[in-house]
Amino acid sequence: MKAVVKTGPDEGQLALKDWPEPSPGPNQVKLRIGAAGICGTDIHIIKGRWRCDPPVVLGHEFCGTVVEVGPQVRGFKPGDRVVASNPAIVCGNCYHCLAGNPFMCKERVSAGYMIDGAFAEFLCIRPEVCHHLPDHVSFRAAAMGEPLAVAVRAVMERSTVHAGDLVVVSGPGCVGLLTLLMAKLEGARVIISGVGTDLLRLKCGKDLGADRVVNTSEEDLLEVVRDYSGGHGADLVYECSGSARSLGVCWEAVRKEGTVVQVGVYPGPIETDLNKVMMKELRFIGTYGYVWTSWKRAVQLWDEKKIQIDSMVSHEYPLSQFEEAFRATQDGSAIKVVLNPESS
Ligand SMILES: [Zn+2]
Ligand SMILES: [Zn+2]
Repeated sequence: MKAVVKTGPDEGQLALKDWPEPSPGPNQVKLRIGAAGICGTDIHIIKGRWRCDPPVVLGHEFCGTVVEVGPQVRGFKPGDRVVASNPAIVCGNCYHCLAGNPFMCKERVSAGYMIDGAFAEFLCIRPEVCHHLPDHVSFRAAAMGEPLAVAVRAVMERSTVHAGDLVVVSGPGCVGLLTLLMAKLEGARVIISGVGTDLLRLKCGKDLGADRVVNTSEEDLLEVVRDYSGGHGADLVYECSGSARSLGVCWEAVRKEGTVVQVGVYPGPIETDLNKVMMKELRFIGTYGYVWTSWKRAVQLWDEKKIQIDSMVSHEYPLSQFEEAFRATQDGSAIKVVLNPESS
């Protein structure tokens, strides 16, 4: 089968290769990949800034059709359409695995950089990471299942948004836009902010229901927040950009006794004024990945047609055009880029 493979640890060591087609173990389903999203993590991996174990097939956001199941598999059969979380290997026995948060497992080995991922025609995975995809949800949209689960985790599981709250989302990338969408579903008024190169994403934020879109290259976010909050500041602020400067603005945008949620990933250690957390009596919450319930909620929202996110996929490419796909992901011209192995 064809697969996009990271062939070495350095930047640019990437190729479309003929790769052995996997066959399912006794408790595995074999998926024909329907669509696989490119995410910020993939860019870190390509640039050699993220731990990975080459040669390895990239891709960890995906969905597809079951084509074969091992003899122990229950609940899935050939023909089923599924969306799946990262089929990482975890120990299953540590505190975090047993407590239901395998993302925290010390022995976690993730697919798409440590073991083979989904930028390929087929992938074999455990049924526990699969979720049945409602018929009306396209593979194109379902390729965003992972960022959607991340946003569900951030908004609905790690923090609490009340109807009528004022929420600021700083950073309109895919996760930021989905965070906005989740906060709207919870009944908040939402301001989303980005910089001059985010215009397409900010427009998408408007289409997804943002009450106010702020291009910080032209406008002062803090002034807008003051206007919307009667001078008090936002009840919750989601830092989704991974920029130290954005976090600095978040400390100012949030009201006293408010909540700042860290969703974005910084390129490394940053300098910031943590006295704000103390002096404003803030809650500062980290959120990382998702748990099983985040996916259950995400799929339920799709099932009830509460979200419509197809339009967030701005570019779709066959595997053979992976280079163009990665370029579009990095140059700001895209919201979400997906690879479609079926059209390769
Ligand atoms: Zn991802
Ligand atoms: Zn574990």
